[in-house]
Order: sequence, then structure tokens, then C-alpha cells
Amino acid sequence: RNTQRSSYSASKGQGKAGNIDYMGEFDWSDALRAKMKAVFGFNNFRLCQEGICNASMDGRDIVGIMPTGGGKSLGYQLPALMVSGCTIVISPLLSLIADQIMHLHEADIDAVMLTGATPKDESMRIYRRLQEMASGASNAPDLKLCYVTPEKIAKSKTFTSALEKLYRVNKLARFVIDEAHCVSQQGHDFRPDYQKLSILRQLFPNVPILALSATCPPIVLRDLLKTLRMPAPVSGTAATPTGTDAEQVANDLYEKSDRKILTGVYHADIRDNVKQRLHEQWRNGKVKVVCATIAFGLGIDKGDVRFVLHHTKSLDGFYQESGRAGRDGKDADCILYYRSQDATRIASMTCGDHNGKEKVLSMLKFASDLEECRKIQFARYFSESSNLSINSWETAEEGALTRCGHCDNCTRPPESIECRYVRLPAWQILRIAGSQQATMAQLSDLARGLGGASAGAAGGGVKGRGKVRGKEKVAVDLEEVAGGKVELSKEQTEVLCVRLLVDGYLEMSFSPTAYSVNVYLKPSTKATRFTRFSREDIEQGKGPEFTGVFLKKGAKRKGATAGASSSKKAGKEEQTAEGKGTSMNAKMT
Ligand code: ADP
Ligand code: MG
Repeated sequence: RNTQRSSYSASKGQGKAGNIDYMGEFDWSDALRAKMKAVFGFNNFRLCQEGICNASMDGRDIVGIMPTGGGKSLGYQLPALMVSGCTIVISPLLSLIADQIMHLHEADIDAVMLTGATPKDESMRIYRRLQEMASGASNAPDLKLCYVTPEKIAKSKTFTSALEKLYRVNKLARFVIDEAHCVSQQGHDFRPDYQKLSILRQLFPNVPILALSATCPPIVLRDLLKTLRMPAPVSGTAATPTGTDAEQVANDLYEKSDRKILTGVYHADIRDNVKQRLHEQWRNGKVKVVCATIAFGLGIDKGDVRFVLHHTKSLDGFYQESGRAGRDGKDADCILYYRSQDATRIASMTCGDHNGKEKVLSMLKFASDLEECRKIQFARYFSESSNLSINSWETAEEGALTRCGHCDNCTRPPESIECRYVRLPAWQILRIAGSQQATMAQLSDLARGLGGASAGAAGGGVKGRGKVRGKEKVAVDLEEVAGGKVELSKEQTEVLCVRLLVDGYLEMSFSPTAYSVNVYLKPSTKATRFTRFSREDIEQGKGPEFTGVFLKKGAKRKGATAGASSSKKAGKEEQTAEGKGTSMNAKMT
């Protein structure tokens, strides 16, 4: 299935048929891996790094979409060291460039940057090197990587003419455009100088381009391909945040256990032979923990799985994954880690998914419910969602279901939860959300008047000022908007925000930035029926009834321990990390 390429000199491969599997083996594969290990110290490629390197070695135009921290830089740094000539990297920010150069120098890689801030004598030296490369006048090794800001391409004649000289002698290996979504006016980080990068193809038609981004919705992608004149690029997309999540969790487990917990990683981008080895090691018990996406466990039937820990985002997935525990018929635990403050993070990861919002909301509803039996919740969920039918429950009438008696909610001691009337705080939160665009964290801070000074003297208004995140500053006149601050803890405020989301009073709106997707909470039209009331109305009992159910701080389950042991007695379910986790038993049917 792997296509062999006969040479790995920088063949200029535009216009090649697009059917090559770049995740396969190539003539240069061993050399590529050896170089990665020797120079960067990495043992394995991540996500689509290898595919990007291979397509790059093959001289193709490439679009690489990988999450922030996914390792996009290796996709051009490694090939740059393997081929002759200089790779030009265009990056929007001086600080990003400086950071890269520092890391490259640490790894003893010859890289330079040429920006408006480069001292004159340094830029003279760089131009001299480029000139020498072009004329072949020196036998010094090629300069491999040159970082520039887009302004250099757009505005510096000296620079473009230096590039032209390199181009004439085939020493211009590639253009790399980092944060390539800045090209498009459709995106949120449009930069006019990026748009001028269209001249690259005009001036250097044979030089392949690699466009990199972490956030690139289809409309932005189309725009950038058009602007950069990349008609048939190879695309490497690893917007599988679940995959990187699995890697992240595995790394954390391994590092934080002082490298004692050997942890396997399994997701769709892991090579088949690596997957096979992991299966064996897991089966024979060498690897005790596998951090996996849904891709793992299709066909897995290992009797003695004692824990399935969910770091997940959909109820379908949770149900399906829990089925992997306790297949030997003994008790097993399925533990879902959840905090209210994760809600919008999860939502931001799923914002591009089909039915992403609905899925997140049903998961939030499930996770934040501290009372109803999990079995009944599942039954209702699956009978409501039309595309799934669970045989054992068939068309079970809700009323006919009895509580399972095993799950966390069935066994929760009543004294561990606290019920409070929260009509007023709910009204306040909605009013604040309506007056100021805010994320959940900001909303929670604003509502509690955090960081702000009192506006009036004795008992006067309170000004809430949210944490400063990035460039945004949010502030609200609490007295004016909500008649004062919300008298709940941070945790409780977040629980209430989730409740307002689940009940449809708040809505999520997504706003992609260069580095992540911000999720803002806005009042829905349903909320106006509530927020039109005055504070006096609310205090006199107008508006919908709102009871909040909160876990009491420090309330532990019966026999709960943070690192639960693997021996469980029948019917006893353990392990809830103090108000942060929700736990249920897998054997509930
Ligand atoms: P991005 O540009 O996608 O945000 P970077 O290229 O800056 O990400 O890489 C993020 C981090 O991941 C860096 O610290 C880098 O050293 C590390 N990294 C990249 N590739 C690998 C790999 N194959 N194995 C281990 N670490 C890697
Ligand atoms: Mg980067």
C-alpha cells in the first residue's frame, strides 16, 4: 500500500497525482527518523508529522492543520535539514520567531531571522551568506532555515531579490507559512501583509509551499489556497483533538508518576505495527494503562479490565466505552472525570463536529445531574436519540425503570449534597451575560465581583472585573446590571452556569482565535422571559423556579479513596474525587 519514491532529492512535485499515501514508508524514511532522533531527540512522529515530512521531501505543496502544541514546526524543520537549499519560514510574530530560533540554536541548527528588528550588521551578514549560497562562491554549508515576518516579503526589495538569486540556482527549498489562516479575511486574525504572500507563487512558481495552521475552518482554507495559489496541495489534518488529548493524558500519567506508570497511546494516527505491539503488551500486562480514543477497544475483549476512566465528550462514547469494563462478570468501575469549568473547553473542541453542541449539552446534563439514577438517564437518552437503539432497553418506559442501586447517584449519601434556591443568582448571571461578552471563567469572576474595587463607599455598587485573558478586558457595573454580586462560590457559580446552559437559558457562541476557540456564554431568547423582571420582582418570587444541587465541599463517598484499589465488593461503588468526579458502575443492566 506504500508507494515507493525512487529518490529524495528535492524533486519539485507540483501537479503530481494526489493519491500517494504519505503516511507510508519511503526510501528516505529511515534517514528521516534517524535525523529526527539525532537532532531533535524524538523517537516517534506525532499526528501527521511524518506525512507532512514525506510530502515535503516529495516536493509537494502542503496544508498542515494540527492543534497548537501538536508539533507543526518539525514538519518543516526536519525536511529542511534533509534537502539542499534554504527553507524560508514566514511567521506573524517576532516573539514566535525568536522562540523558534532559540530552540533551533539549542539543537545546534543553523537558523537565522530577518525582521524589522534585526540589527543592520546582522542582516548584512545574512544577506552575504545568501549571496554566497547563490553564487556558489563559498563552500560553507547552506543556510538551512531563514525566518522572516510577512512584511519582508511584502515590502523588502532587497530580500526578494536575494531570494530570486537563490531561486535561479535551485537553492530555494520551500516557503513555509506559519499561522496561515492570517491570509484570509474570513478568519479572525487577518493580516494584510499575509495577503501579499500571493506574490510567492508569482515570483517563484516552482518553490513548494507548506501552509500551517491550528484553526482553519473550510471557508478560511478555501480562501488561503486561492490566495497562495496552491491548486492541489497535499493536506495533513490532525484536528483529532481526542488523539492529542490521549497523548497529553498519557504523557501526564507517565511524567507525574515519575515514569512508573507505563502508558500506551492508541488513536487513529498511530501506525498499525505500533498498535499491534501495544495490543500485545497490554494483553500480557506489560503495559497497564492505555490512553485511547474510541479507536481502541473495537474488538478488544480483555477480561480483567478493572477501570475505564473517561476523559470524554459524548454520552454515546461514554456508554460504549464503559462496556469494556468488567467483562469477566466481576464488578468494575467506570469513572467520568468532570468539572463544571471543563464544560466550555469540551465544547470548544467539538465546535466543528456534527451535532457538537447537542452532544456536549447531553453530556453536561448527565455529568451535572447528582440525583437521578444513571441507568434511567441512559435509558432516556437513548430512547430520545433516534439513531441509536440499545437492545437490552428496547422501548423501556421511563416509569417502568427502577433505580439501579449501584451508581453514584443511587448510593450518594443525602448529606453530601446541598440544595439551594438560586433564582436570584440565576437571574444575575443571565443579566451579566447579556451585558458583556464573557467566557464561563470570566462570567463566574464578573458575577462574584472579582478583582474589581467597590464603586461606592459604604455598601455601594460593586464593579466586577474579569480576569484579563489575552487582550480582552471585561468589566461590568454589577450594581447597575445585577443589583450586586452573586453570593455563591466559584464552583457553585460554574455549576449554575452549566445548569443554565443545559436548561437553554444560556447559549454557547464560538469564536476562533489563532490559538484556540473561545466559547462565550450568551443569554438565549428563552432567558428574556426571565431577565425582563426587575430584581424586586425576582425577590418577590417572579420568574421560573430554580433549585441548585451542589456537592458539599469535602463530601466523600462511602469508602472513597483518591487512588481506588482494584478490588471491589459486589454492589459497592467507590471513588469520587471530592466534588469533582462523577462515578458510576458499569454493570448496571
Ligand atoms: P505547534 O507549532 O504545532 O504549536 P510546536 O512545533 O511548537 O507545536 O511543538 C510543540 C512541542 O512539541 C515542542 O516542545 C516540540 O519540541 C514538541 N514535539 C514536536 N514533535 C514532537 C515529537 N515527535 N515527539 C515529541 N515531542 C515533540
Ligand atoms: Mg507553531
